[in-house]
Amino acid sequence: MAYLSALLFLAAHACAIGISGGAPLASYPFLVLATLIAAISCAWRARRTARPEREWDLAALAMLLWGGGMLMATWQAVTGGQLAATVSLLLYVLYGVPLTFAIASAGSEAWPLRLIDAVLAIGLGALYATHTLSLAADQTVGGQNFLDLRLTLDLENLFIATFALVRLATSTNARARDYFRALSCFAVAYLLVAAITNHFFADVDFGGYADLIIGVPFLWLAILARQSPSAPVVRAYPPRRNHLVRAGSHLFLPLTLLPISALVVGNRPWLGALGFVLATLGAGVRGVLLQIRTYEERDQLDVLARIDGLTRIPNRRHFEESMDREWRRCMRSGDSLALLMIDIDHFKQINDAYGHPEGDRILQAVARALAGCAHRSSDTVARYGGEEFAALLPSIGRNGALNVAEAMRAAVEELALPSPLANGVVTISVGVAFIAAVDGGHPSDLLANADEALYRAKAEGRNRIRDAAPSAA
Ligand code: GH3
Ligand code: MG
Ligand code: MG
Repeated sequence: MAYLSALLFLAAHACAIGISGGAPLASYPFLVLATLIAAISCAWRARRTARPEREWDLAALAMLLWGGGMLMATWQAVTGGQLAATVSLLLYVLYGVPLTFAIASAGSEAWPLRLIDAVLAIGLGALYATHTLSLAADQTVGGQNFLDLRLTLDLENLFIATFALVRLATSTNARARDYFRALSCFAVAYLLVAAITNHFFADVDFGGYADLIIGVPFLWLAILARQSPSAPVVRAYPPRRNHLVRAGSHLFLPLTLLPISALVVGNRPWLGALGFVLATLGAGVRGVLLQIRTYEERDQLDVLARIDGLTRIPNRRHFEESMDREWRRCMRSGDSLALLMIDIDHFKQINDAYGHPEGDRILQAVARALAGCAHRSSDTVARYGGEEFAALLPSIGRNGALNVAEAMRAAVEELALPSPLANGVVTISVGVAFIAAVDGGHPSDLLANADEALYRAKAEGRNRIRDAAPSAA
């Protein structure tokens, strides 16, 4: 249906050209209308898209700029004013700025990165504008200015089409694929249409049948914008390719700035140089900001990877790292090391009686109580797994370790967490292993000893601490 409407639109345009006998004014309204339809369709799609991903607005803005260029061309055809011709040319060139920004800058990026992209896009616009204005004065077909201007337009269109295709090939979510598919179709069609009209019909006035192809990219974009959003699909692209484009996409804007700066530098050295500086600084500062964010995210992940999600105390991975580190340190210094293995008594029955959510709350309360009993910065209290906890206490005497274990047992009992068992409160059993001077062996010996002591504490009635026989290590 949409494609049929587009064909009817083109047929009406062809009729107008035929009936008017090739009058330019027969073509202009159709071309302005085609861009307006594209702009309205993109704006309509933007309204239907969630907030941070409003790139369709930028496509709509681009269409309005191009349509404005066509409107000024119409004005120039009516009045013959040179100013209208210049403004028209300017708008045709500036239309690429919002498109380049939309392709280069992801809506989900942090605002400082968006700001840098916006500054680069504005710089790009300023360079395009200056360059176009300096070339617009003399537009003799085949002259140097004429050729330079075509080169600028070709470059701009080529960049937009290439970047859009790259983004399309690597975007994995349905929303981005819809957007970049539409932009790629438009940009490739526009690149071809602009190349054909600028290079083969440059000296032909508007009003011929060749004008028909100019409306095609805009009508196509309008159709794609009105299509219903694709269903989410998970596509298994090689992650490296996606990462490469994601990391490389921050070069899109600087890369577009460089050739246009090179074109400008001949006529206006300062402006060209400013373009180079902007491109270099933009890419550099963007890189630094991204690197900072990568560091922050890595640190956060590092912390998250060592914290138990339920109880917010260190997890087993953290515990094992501490154990290895402390074991080696104690080996070097001949220091003492104590390990407490702690297990909640009859936890299965507590879960069965009160449900898992209540069981989880009990685990959290017990974890807090245990952590509150280990005061030294070198102590580590961790969730070892399930309803088991472990405490690593370096540089402590045997009695000190037993005292901490007893303090933990008493602290949990004093919480008076309800239990379906005879004593009515949640309790723990603790197995204590102690080495007076670590001078060999392996951390697993200490673990096995603490485990054995815990087993005895359980076997002898629970809610108690038991001490392992002095370790051979
Ligand atoms: P014992 O006194 O001999 O240690 O008996 P127990 O019931 O505590 O020991 P058992 O190993 O039979 O059961 C442990 C229970 O701990 C079983 C499991 O469902 C529960 N559990 C393990 N992890 C979690 C958790 O994250 N949340 C909850 N709610 N329960 C857990
Ligand atoms: Mg238990
Ligand atoms: Mg257990």
